[in-house]
Amino acid sequence: MRRIRSNTPEAWSEIPPSRGARGRIDNRTSYRDEDVRKFVQAGLRAYGAPPNTEVTVRAAPGRTRGCAILGGRRMVLALARPSKWSLRKATLIFRHEVAHLRGADHHEMSPDIYWSRGPVPAWARGKKLRRKSGAHRGASRKRKKAR
Ligand SMILES: [Zn+2]
Repeated sequence: MRRIRSNTPEAWSEIPPSRGARGRIDNRTSYRDEDVRKFVQAGLRAYGAPPNTEVTVRAAPGRTRGCAILGGRRMVLALARPSKWSLRKATLIFRHEVAHLRGADHHEMSPDIYWSRGPVPAWARGKKLRRKSGAHRGASRKRKKAR
């Protein structure tokens, strides 16, 4: 595994994407499997995550969060529900977590990577996470209106 040099905090994002990187994705959200898979796979490739990275995607109670094993192959991505969804934030948090997988500790990250700041990266533009067809869509609000 390539280590990230501590004197070049952004070096990992400049390494060309690793085409071979494929993840095992366990989707526990109300978002569609295929959309979650496409998003996660594209991100793993874009940031050169280790091959066979295991990504558990679950629903976040609030905003999108993540955690990853430093220099490991496991990551948990907790995605915000549609009302709190931000593609930009989800993407940049993903970037932060892959940096951990690639061996970067917080002090080795640039401020933008550490704080998950910046525009939507090119690889994620236009990516949509649709809800599963059985998932509730604003059910509580509709129910109130109906009364
Ligand atoms: Zn972190």
